[in-house]
Amino acid sequence: SDSHFPVPISPNHVEYSHHYPQFFSSAGEVGSIKKVQFADIGCGFGGLLISLSTLFPETLMIGMELRDKVTEYVKERILALRTTNPGQYQNVSVVRTNSMKYIPNYFEKGQLTKMFFLFPDPHFKEKNHRRRVISPHLLDEYAYVLEVGGIIYTITDVEELGDWMKTCLENHPMFEALTEEELHADPAVKLLSTATEEGQKVARNGGQTFQAGQGCDFSGGVI
Ligand code: SAM
Repeated sequence: SDSHFPVPISPNHVEYSHHYPQFFSSAGEVGSIKKVQFADIGCGFGGLLISLSTLFPETLMIGMELRDKVTEYVKERILALRTTNPGQYQNVSVVRTNSMKYIPNYFEKGQLTKMFFLFPDPHFKEKNHRRRVISPHLLDEYAYVLEVGGIIYTITDVEELGDWMKTCLENHPMFEALTEEELHADPAVKLLSTATEEGQKVARNGGQTFQAGQGCDFSGGVI
């Protein structure tokens, strides 16, 4: 249950210096410290974060994962990579949390530039749709923590869930679909189907994937 992991009462209470010690020790005065900009929601074993880390070495990024053992594995994986590759993987970390409840405890308004939802659990039954990590009300929260122009990336091998996520995003007033050109030019898009453990499993089994990238369009007006 949630009582097994600490929940920060606000983003100011997250000990980011523990997550990114090298960035913090070299940052000098407090005001120059970077904020996390990418969040991988339900990061699983961390394959996407590891790939993003070297692709965007100056961007702080974090994985959010509910399972304790999986989170510990990702922590160890990152520490091992930092040891074997001095100076690298300093920008990536992971936290054990329930992202469906605690996103606003970790990120301020407009802080994130990218949020990733890769192969989320499908929750097939209609009565369980409320457990899906993309839903109309959770999109309100994601729009809050994303900056203007920030992007949500989704991919799944479950067609019904792909349609659900696309519909939720299309119907939300704060998001609009990225164009083919934008998707093509975005280096993060290329990682969606290949970088995570789940994506690799789907590819091995010859499965189809359904993906969407949506920009967070604040010009629609936020209340
Ligand atoms: N994104 C990874 C990938 O592509 O390999 C993992 C996909 S796995 C099917 C879904 C992951 O989401 C699991 O690791 C699960 O523990 C995690 N998860 C499910 N609900 C969550 C929640 N509310 N908060 C954080 N993580 C969650």
